[in-house]
Amino acid sequence: MRDFARSKALYDRAKELIPGGFPAHQSPDLLVKGESPCFIERAKGCRFWDVDGNEYIDYMCAYGPMIIGYNNAAVEKAVAEQKKKGDCFNLPSPLWVELAERMVEMIPAADWVTFGKNGSDVCNHAIRVARAYTGRKKLAMLNGAYHGIGSWCSPMEAGITPEERMNVLTFPFNDLDALREIIESNRGDLAAIVVTPFKHEFLHDLEMPTKAFVRGLNEICRGDGPLLVLDDVRAGFRLHMGGSAEYFGLKPHITCFSKAMGNGYPISACVGLKEIKEAASQVFFTGSFFSNSEPIAASLATIEEMVRTDAISHIFRMGEMLKQGILDQARALGIEISYTGPVSIPFMIIQDKNGFEKNRLFCARAYQEGVFFHPYHNWFVSAAHGEKDIEETLKATQKAFEAVKQAS
Ligand code: PMP
Repeated sequence: MRDFARSKALYDRAKELIPGGFPAHQSPDLLVKGESPCFIERAKGCRFWDVDGNEYIDYMCAYGPMIIGYNNAAVEKAVAEQKKKGDCFNLPSPLWVELAERMVEMIPAADWVTFGKNGSDVCNHAIRVARAYTGRKKLAMLNGAYHGIGSWCSPMEAGITPEERMNVLTFPFNDLDALREIIESNRGDLAAIVVTPFKHEFLHDLEMPTKAFVRGLNEICRGDGPLLVLDDVRAGFRLHMGGSAEYFGLKPHITCFSKAMGNGYPISACVGLKEIKEAASQVFFTGSFFSNSEPIAASLATIEEMVRTDAISHIFRMGEMLKQGILDQARALGIEISYTGPVSIPFMIIQDKNGFEKNRLFCARAYQEGVFFHPYHNWFVSAAHGEKDIEETLKATQKAFEAVKQAS
């Protein structure tokens, strides 16, 4: 049995001083009680080592940022070169302009770019830009979508006033009729429709957009309709280098990126079409660390490396191999599972009235076997996962499914 003693002791100390112990989804209490690593010592490629010295193949990729492997040589070299010159200055480094140019060249829906640190920064900025451009205040967003910690969208209500939410309407994913009703009853008031490229609602199967939904969104958000804001923070650069809009055929006015764009370095970007550039220049958007140079260097190197190695094709191949292996194992043992979403960002639930607990059992056993999954959040596959890693993973999942079967 693996030991998590140091992790547990550190977690107890953290709980003394840090409200809630950990941020929401990272909380070990919600993960796999008492049987999970809580702190990581180091990571390389697709693997990490916890503070008790246990090694894991990682399928959370730092919740998305890790795309070409922890401690990637090309990214670290670019960062080290920038570090010699410095990171945090009064003014941006020249790389800031280079990254903006690279993104505009690569992303069809980008005629301009502004940089932040987190996904929340750019999602909050995007809705302000949409309001500034249209002169309207209401937003329509998807039920259960996550766009970060802004008051308009935070999934928890403590500390948020009803006034901060009253201009936010919600509709179900893929439901154009519900969206049209919102449009009808809020004519002239809707600044933006804010969507994620596919549905990822807490504890629900991931759902891909139908062709009709994509077409409908593109049609509704035309002329003097609301702007289409695409939150591509989670999926950006895991499906297509031009952003998920290219993958699904969406035509957003404004798109938000973060997570994978710097292979773990803190950086995000809000990009948009040229007609919105003037409004974007009017919206106040700044932060002490927004123009730090090392994350910009990391992002340029990440993009270059992904293009050079055709990383996305590899991620899809590895994601498909993982999916097929898992589906075969579950089928052979007679365990019903749903495995949804893009293969590079999959979500698995064991279909059972105790599905959540069974998912936790599956993960607890996988941790013992050296593979790290999350019981109720989608997983991430990266370009650092190779065939041998997937084969090793599948040996662990076989044991994890057998444990689930035994407990049934
Ligand atoms: N949007 C989406 C779709 C996300 O997945 C996330 C992060 N999980 C965010 C926004 C917020 O990003 P951050 O945590 O970097 O603020």
